[in-house]
Amino acid sequence: MFHPTRLLISGFAIVILMLVTLAFVAFHSSGGGTAEVNREVARQIEKINLINELSTIIHDRTRFMQSMLLHDEEFIEQESLPGFNRLGGAYRETHQRLVPMLAPREREIMNAIDRLDRDISDLNRQVSVLFLNGSRDEASRILLQEVLPKTEPLLLYLSELTQAQRMDLQKALLLATQDAEAGRSQVVIFSIVAVIISLAVTFVAIWYGHKLSGQLQEMNNYLEQKIYERTESLLDTQKELIEDNNELTRMALTDSLTGLSNRMHMNQILHKEFARFERHNQRFGIIMLDIDHFKQVNDSYGHDTGDTVLKKLAKIFEGAIRASDFVARWGGEEFLICCTTIEEGDLLPIAETIRQLVANTDYEPSANITASLGCAAIVKGETIGELLKRADIALYEAKNNGRNQTVVSEFTDISLV
Ligand code: GH3
Ligand code: MG
Ligand code: MG
Repeated sequence: MFHPTRLLISGFAIVILMLVTLAFVAFHSSGGGTAEVNREVARQIEKINLINELSTIIHDRTRFMQSMLLHDEEFIEQESLPGFNRLGGAYRETHQRLVPMLAPREREIMNAIDRLDRDISDLNRQVSVLFLNGSRDEASRILLQEVLPKTEPLLLYLSELTQAQRMDLQKALLLATQDAEAGRSQVVIFSIVAVIISLAVTFVAIWYGHKLSGQLQEMNNYLEQKIYERTESLLDTQKELIEDNNELTRMALTDSLTGLSNRMHMNQILHKEFARFERHNQRFGIIMLDIDHFKQVNDSYGHDTGDTVLKKLAKIFEGAIRASDFVARWGGEEFLICCTTIEEGDLLPIAETIRQLVANTDYEPSANITASLGCAAIVKGETIGELLKRADIALYEAKNNGRNQTVVSEFTDISLV
C-alpha cells in the first residue's frame, strides 16, 4: 500500500529531477545560441575596426599628399615619403586581415577601393619623384587634378563599406538581442512549466495522499463500526443466552405450581449442606411435611381448589422458615424444609410453628387443612438418603399417631453415631 508521506516524497523527488533536467536543457539551448551570436558580433566588431583602420590610413595618406603642396623638398624627403611607405605597409597588412572577413557585396566595394588605391599609389610615386626633381608645378598639378579627385570616390567607397558593415553589425546585434531574449524567454517558459508541473505533482501527491488516508480512515471507521456492532450483537446474544440459561435453570429448579424450589433443587441444597457438615461439622436438619387427607380436599372442592391450597401453603412455608433455611415441594402434597446450622433441639420448635400456622390458617373455601411433620437432624456417618429415610419414618409415625403433629426422629440408632 502507498503511504501518503512516501508518495509526497516521491512526488518532490520527481519534481526536483524534472527541474534539474529542464534547467540543464534551458541553459544549454540558450547558452549555445548566445555563444555563436557573440562570436559573430565579435567578428563584426573586428571587421569594423579594420575598416576604420583602413579609412584612417587613407585619410592620413591624403593629408600627407595635401601637405606635400605646402612643404619643401626636404620635408617631402624626410617626412612624406617615409610616411607614405609606412602607410602603404599598414594598408597592406590591414587589407590582408580584412579581405577574408568580407561578404561578397563588401568584396566588390573593396575591389573598387583597391583599384582606386593602386591608381593613387602610382600617381603618388610619380608626384613624389616630380617634387624631388624640382618639378613642383607638374607635381602639384597631378596632385590637384588627378590624385586628390580620386580620393573622393575612394572615401565614398569606404563610407559605403562602413555603412554595409554597420548594417551587418546591427543585424548581428539584433540577432544577439533576439537570441538572448529567446534564451531568456526559453528559461522563463521552462521555469514556468517546471513550477506548474511541480505544483501539479505536489498537488496530486497531496490530494492522492489525502484521499488514501481518507479512504483508510473511512475503512477503519467502517471496520470499527462493524466490530462494535458485532461485539454489541454478540454481547446481546450472550446476555440473552445467559438470561435464557438462568431462566431454564430457574425453571428446572422451580416448582411451576407453587414457585418453590423443586425436588431437584432441594437435592442440590442437601448435598451442599452435607458437604459443609462433613468439612466444618456444621449440622443441618430436615422437616418432611405431608398434608393430611389432601385427597379429600380435592374430592370435596375440586382439583383447582386443591392447587390453590397448595399455593397458599407454599406462601405459609416461605414466610415461616428462617432466612437461612430452604423449603421445597418434595412431591404431590409433600414438602421438605432444610434447616441449616442447627443445634440439638432446634428442629422441633420450627416444625411446630409451621404445623400450627398450617392448621390455623383460613383457606377458601373453609377447608380444614392440617399437616403431619417428621424431623431429622444429620449425624456423623449418615448419608443424605439415610437422613431422608429417618425423616420419612418420623412423618409416618406422626400420621399413624393421628396426624396434625410433629415427630422428631430421636437419634437412637447407634450404628449412625
Ligand atoms: P394422608 O393424610 O395419608 O397423606 O392422606 P392423603 O389423602 O393426603 O394422601 P394420599 O397419598 O392418599 O393422597 C394424596 C393426594 O394429593 C392425592 C392427589 O390427588 C393429591 N395431589 C397430589 N398432587 C396434587 C396437585 O398438584 N394438586 C392437587 N390438587 N392435588 C394433588
Ligand atoms: Mg403424601
Ligand atoms: Mg397427604
